Amino acid sequence: GSQNKVEANILLLGAENVGKSALTVRFLTRRYIGEYGDIESIYSHTDRIDGREISFNIWDSLHPQNYEVEGYISEKQLQWADGFILVYSICDRASFNVVRQQVQRIRLYKNKLSAPTPIIIVGNKRDLKHRRTVSSEEGRLLALSSDCGFFETSAAETYHGVLLVFHELLDLIREARALK
Ligand code: GDP
Ligand code: MG
Repeated sequence: GSQNKVEANILLLGAENVGKSALTVRFLTRRYIGEYGDIESIYSHTDRIDGREISFNIWDSLHPQNYEVEGYISEKQLQWADGFILVYSICDRASFNVVRQQVQRIRLYKNKLSAPTPIIIVGNKRDLKHRRTVSSEEGRLLALSSDCGFFETSAAETYHGVLLVFHELLDLIREARALK
């Protein structure tokens, strides 16, 4: 019945070129294409998980080019999202700093509404070990200190790890709703 239906608005944020689109397309199609272009889109995707129908709306965002505030997130995005996936590349220190800013921004905004807000931090491109500049520990520490989930993924290498991220966020969103 309709009471079994769950809808979740998920927003992917992070710097340019970290794999937001690759993660989104992996989740939606199980595939990795390699080139994604600069497209911003909201995708709808229905899935059946544990006997429940889940409607995902996934907003694959574009990092604004001429932002004055690092880690800028629009008010519209903040309002729209039930949960956030903040992506950096383990080979790109600057992208990790963007995520740091974005976590703070979300926490500040949502605290004003006193709404629990699920966030998962994702260190992507873990297949590029030889180019790593952000350690797993740093990622995990940031997540711990800001009450976020944490995963390292490779959109290029595996579907399973990407699936885990979206499912974990869905669980957190449902927990947060149960608390309201
Ligand atoms: P976005 O700007 O954050 O949406 O990043 P894209 O999804 O467009 O990815 C940027 C580039 O990184 C593309 O060339 C992707 O093929 C590549 N890429 C994305 N994820 C991975 C990954 O896990 N490993 C590797 N090696 N490359 C990746
Ligand atoms: Mg993209």
